[in-house]
Amino acid sequence: MRPALLSALLLFPAATMAAEPSKSAQRFARDAVIVDTHIDAPSELLKAWRDLGVEVPDREFDYAKARRGGLDVAFMSIYTSPADDTGGAAREKAHRQIDAVEALVGRHPGRFAKVVSPSDVRRHQGDGRVLLALGMENGAPIGDDLAQLAAFHARGVRYITLAHSHSNRIADGSYSLDRPWKGLNPFGEKVVAEMNRLGIMVDVSHLSDDAVRGVLRVARAPVIASHSGLRRFTPGFERNLSDELAKAIAKTGGVVQITFGSGFIDARAAADTTAYFRELATFQQAQAEAKSRGEPVKSVEDFDAVWDPAHPKPATKLSQVIDQLDYAIGLLGEDHVGIGSDFDGVSGALPAGLRSAADYPNLVAALRARGHGDATIRKVLGGNLLRVWSAVERASRRQGSTRELRMR
Ligand SMILES: [Zn+2]
Repeated sequence: MRPALLSALLLFPAATMAAEPSKSAQRFARDAVIVDTHIDAPSELLKAWRDLGVEVPDREFDYAKARRGGLDVAFMSIYTSPADDTGGAAREKAHRQIDAVEALVGRHPGRFAKVVSPSDVRRHQGDGRVLLALGMENGAPIGDDLAQLAAFHARGVRYITLAHSHSNRIADGSYSLDRPWKGLNPFGEKVVAEMNRLGIMVDVSHLSDDAVRGVLRVARAPVIASHSGLRRFTPGFERNLSDELAKAIAKTGGVVQITFGSGFIDARAAADTTAYFRELATFQQAQAEAKSRGEPVKSVEDFDAVWDPAHPKPATKLSQVIDQLDYAIGLLGEDHVGIGSDFDGVSGALPAGLRSAADYPNLVAALRARGHGDATIRKVLGGNLLRVWSAVERASRRQGSTRELRMR
């Protein structure tokens, strides 16, 4: 060890050193292809516009942070809520979010590029741009029209999380109190088949256990979980995957993208989340009844204004995310684990050291400290997801060629 480095170590306590990853971890993060499959920037843009081409203090993802963190491919989440669905606004809202992503690329063509394939990612390698891919969170925008899948594929959507917090026309959600389909319904089976045919990755994050099983039964290409934790760390929390289901996803050749939010890595916070959706459902039921009697009704925002201060998210640490990654690598093998942060989607409830797109080097340093080699870390950071994405494209082409043969 060089004397200067030794004195630096003596001068700065461990916590300070941990806040600033080594130059080597920073270099590694810049060099490795990092693919984060879940960043909620687009829906936030609709709520309050920001220019993400420059540093934006109140956002977790922007160009400056992504470059500092070495992020290469950011899957922009095209998110619509169950309320958007029941209100009939989901499709229009999804298109507006895609427009927002395209506007960002249009405004900063030297900083961002939209990508729709791993070959696009390879083509842009090293050109300094942050690559924006599209993942749709909640299948609500397709309504009951399978043709909408091709329409959204044409706009660049490359994965779809079949449902969100409520059961929808396709499948039951893990937070849903009512499970009308007992999993994936017949329309959902057609949706999965059409997604496989088009080359859209099927995402089982947010689904009920039965719905995940339904997807695994009918999928003809590798399946992903774009942003999920492991239930082992949050007992009883269905939103996180059981070991059994995580292994079944890996068996399809797919990948489990471990998420960072405190609500997914801390058992108490996860229990609070379950309670939140239970109470919210009761509240919404009461509001619907009040509305039918012509009485004034309160909004979800009113509910949150009471709930949030009474249920502060606990402080969490980067090591809790590493515990999950570590366990996942042991359980599934290094070829079936990745990352899906949920940046800009969890109201800042993130572990210390992993609070924005600038922080991937901390993840690299912590994985190395747990003894993971560089080849494993590269796979987890993005190699695995790119492999799965390519496999889903190949499965689509195979189906396309079989169809052509049949048509002759
Ligand atoms: Zn989500």
